[in-house]
Amino acid sequence: MLFCSTRDQKNQKTAHEVILEGIASDGGLFVPMQIPQIDVKTLCGMDYTQRAKTVFSAYLDDFTDEELEQVVRGAYAEGRFATPDVEQIHSLTDRLFVMELFHGPTMAFKDVALQAMPRLLPLASVKSRNENEILILVATSGDTGKAALEGFCDVKGTRIIVFYPKDGVSRAQYLQMATQKGANTHVVAVEGNFDDCQTGVKKLFGDRAFNETLDRLGVSLSSANSINWARLMPQIVYYYSTYADLLKEGKIREGEPVHYVVPTGNFGDILAAEFARLMGLPVGQLICASNSNDVLVDFFEKGVYDSDRTFYRTISPSMDILVSSNLERLLYLRTKDAQWVRSRMEELSDGKRYDSAELFDTIREGFWAQKCAEEETSRTIREVWDRYGYVIDPHTAVGAGVYGKYRETFPDDDTVTVIVSTASPYKFTDAVLEALGEKPEEDIFAQADQLARKTGTSIPGPLAALREAKIVHTTVCAKDRMGEAVLNIIKG
Ligand SMILES: *Cc1c(COP(=O)(O)O)cnc(C)c1O
Repeated sequence: MLFCSTRDQKNQKTAHEVILEGIASDGGLFVPMQIPQIDVKTLCGMDYTQRAKTVFSAYLDDFTDEELEQVVRGAYAEGRFATPDVEQIHSLTDRLFVMELFHGPTMAFKDVALQAMPRLLPLASVKSRNENEILILVATSGDTGKAALEGFCDVKGTRIIVFYPKDGVSRAQYLQMATQKGANTHVVAVEGNFDDCQTGVKKLFGDRAFNETLDRLGVSLSSANSINWARLMPQIVYYYSTYADLLKEGKIREGEPVHYVVPTGNFGDILAAEFARLMGLPVGQLICASNSNDVLVDFFEKGVYDSDRTFYRTISPSMDILVSSNLERLLYLRTKDAQWVRSRMEELSDGKRYDSAELFDTIREGFWAQKCAEEETSRTIREVWDRYGYVIDPHTAVGAGVYGKYRETFPDDDTVTVIVSTASPYKFTDAVLEALGEKPEEDIFAQADQLARKTGTSIPGPLAALREAKIVHTTVCAKDRMGEAVLNIIKG
């Protein structure tokens, strides 16, 4: 199978090259040139690992069956998730379901892809005849760094160093990173802010002499970037898997369309659902749920993507985004015109906006978008709790709130709907407690106890474990000394 760049159809690569390179040299994103078809019925009798293997092998035809077996077992079968199925379905009614994707090590859905990608990367590297150890450098403002650390933890042939701003992460985020296990994981606090970390990491990637020094030490740099195909592809699996489970349990009939509501930021998760639809899954509407950062809502309403706007910090911070990178892939999939996509992306980088004009109807078909502002999000947490006795996090609440608006707009549409739940309520205890009318305690563990008492739910394993965990990472470095910090770690 070949992939091409969204900005140049002639820029083609095989699967392992796409995984290793992450982003195309022309700045575009890689997309598969043919879309494999999978009949969801064939997945009903399989467990999650085999469903994942079926989807992966449809795209990664240069990986062997044994290799993919090893990837999916390592990612999904060896106790990394608290549930055997990775995704767990919770019924609110017999037509409305929640797909819980937060039972992984960092209690958010990015774990699903970040468990698989680190296992694909060293295999892709060997296929490209690279014998060096892969060194992942990550700059983080908190969450992604931890999910990447968990993903690469003890994966053979890899090592990871995460840089975070010393005084710029929450207490919970600090504890999560500083207590990280694994012989190949390293965490460095930088005396500076997140931008300093990001600039520092970018510089190291572009520093030729530094890369040569690493090469002599048997090490090559790589990134765990969110636009890598190996981050997107694993997300296709759970849309299929949930449908297969609903079918198996007789909640839907064969071929019956199902709507998916997706709390959206970078447009990655919802794009994976679009891929599932292209592969033959009976997807109805894809409902794109935004918080107050509603650039996508305007886009799906007017066809104009305008990132020149106020940036809001919300209680659903993982969706606080102005430029949703993965939308570029949808533009390409719908138009198949790389020249056109390239021009739009140039307009975006020059003038912060572009107009999809006459192609807009083609692009938006099958999508419906709305936003859920801050007070609405809190109110939704409260309403879902009062009505269903089910507690959700603020990101999921944005989805639930937007689904409410969808039903107000289309009262007769009672198509079976799945709301994608992207994070555990225990990850955002203060916002959830406030929404439920409680005054949150100061300490995060006291807040977790409070939420458990209030809702009768139990504290997830990863959070409970944090209470006892020992601090093992204490390295601090100046913002202009990040390269030295890397070399010190490599030389041991
Ligand atoms: C990243 C994230 C999202 C947004 O997903 P995208 O793929 O960026 O659209 C939603 N919720 C949570 C909890 C996340 O971490």
